[in-house]
Amino acid sequence: MPIATVNPATGETLETFDALGAEEVERRIAAADAAFRTHRTTSFADRARLMHRAADLLEEDQEDIARTLTTEMGKPVKQARAEVAKCAKAMRWYADRAERLLADEEPDAGDVKDSGASRAVVRYRPLGPVLAVMPWNFPLWQVIRFAAPALMAGNVGLLKHSSNVPRTALYLEDLFRRAGFPEGCFQTLLVGSSEIEKILRDPRIKAATLTGSEPAGRSVASVAGDDVKKTVLELGGSDPFVVMPSADLDRAVQTAVTARVQNAGQSCIAAKRFIVHTDVYDAFAERFTAGMKALKVGDPMDEDTEVGPLSSASGREGMEELVADAVEKGATVLCGGKRPEGLPDGGWYYEPTVLAGITPEMRVHHEETFGPVATLYRAENLDDAVRIANDTPFGLSSNVWTRDEAEVDRFVRDLEAGGVYVNGMTASHPAFPFGGVKRSGYGRELSGHGIREFCNITTVWHG
Ligand code: NDP
Repeated sequence: MPIATVNPATGETLETFDALGAEEVERRIAAADAAFRTHRTTSFADRARLMHRAADLLEEDQEDIARTLTTEMGKPVKQARAEVAKCAKAMRWYADRAERLLADEEPDAGDVKDSGASRAVVRYRPLGPVLAVMPWNFPLWQVIRFAAPALMAGNVGLLKHSSNVPRTALYLEDLFRRAGFPEGCFQTLLVGSSEIEKILRDPRIKAATLTGSEPAGRSVASVAGDDVKKTVLELGGSDPFVVMPSADLDRAVQTAVTARVQNAGQSCIAAKRFIVHTDVYDAFAERFTAGMKALKVGDPMDEDTEVGPLSSASGREGMEELVADAVEKGATVLCGGKRPEGLPDGGWYYEPTVLAGITPEMRVHHEETFGPVATLYRAENLDDAVRIANDTPFGLSSNVWTRDEAEVDRFVRDLEAGGVYVNGMTASHPAFPFGGVKRSGYGRELSGHGIREFCNITTVWHG
């Protein structure tokens, strides 16, 4: 993939970038290695001061960087501004809490004595330079949720961002530099994905985190596994959104629409499969379809646009192929299913789409729909809803709508996912662990769990 900014609203190439040569990559890995030796010894207070400064600068830049996001990957500018604000919040969250989250842990006094120690603690020490392979869909947030905890823990980061968001990638490096983080603490590597293996195998790189597709995750994790390096993988999702008869249907419908089309549907935690109890299926289907139809699709720079273009021509083709496959195998299109009229020809727009009558033979049943396409399922009862919800290779998060506590308990016990959101939509928050099971990956980001992923958990034992 060429490293370039191509406007998804017009298809126009605005800027192209040369990939870094081998010497420059080497210089940057060496800088990361050198920076780590010092950064690991700095105090939490010093790191927090720099992280707060970075958050302040990010907020000052909000309008400009939001427009860069929109220009590079097509999200409505309002959503881009919200992404900027969310990043600043997470940076401050880790700045203020890292010391507590990584404080020495004292085992039980009885266990310490039993081990023959006079005293013992568990200490969280940083690992070293971490390679972050990141996607374009939340081009700031995906990086910040790695970078803020990593830098606060005393690690340093090397970012290999998606090739379609180079301006955002360079902005991030510049942001941390302006905030005062020493050279080498956070660097962007403008390289293609073919260069990743060599970088990852470099002994100075200690671990990797990847957010993106399953093939990318598998490739990075195999290399890291071969080199015995830790990885965290946050891959795709096909989250269920289950609606039971006791649900508040108005709120469920409204939330379902937002949960499906946020970021033009290009979100790993977007609700993708809508599994509705037969008693409320018809009412839900009618109102949900009306809500999807009413969305304003258009220029992402317009303040009132709700759904912008997809981020790439291939992203839209992927949606078209999935919908065509489903229709060919008998799915019904309740709305959408085509490119909208009246928008620039070059833009990668696609109408919000609802498909019903889904069967396991259809690709949409087991693949991720990374675009504004919802699939509707009719569930006969609670068991059936759980069965359909789990009938997917993915296990990122899940949404359930019910006012029955016994049903809630069943869903929390049985849904195969890293999150169960009851009467609401999945959204990440710095305080809660984020990540999945099954093919959605492993490891956790955010919260105390996220900051400890790239730590050397060290037993300190005194005889
Ligand atoms: P990719 O997974 O291809 O891209 C994500 C990152 O991984 C990019 O930095 C990319 O670099 C890099 N990458 C790609 N292939 C490899 C590889 N073989 N080895 C190492 N790194 C690699 O996502 P796409 O943009 O192609 O999107 C395809 C699908 O991935 C989507 O339809 C969606 O299903 C899923 N996806 C999931 C995301 C999530 O949030 N979980 C985010 C984005 C995509 P480069 O850009 O240079 O290729």
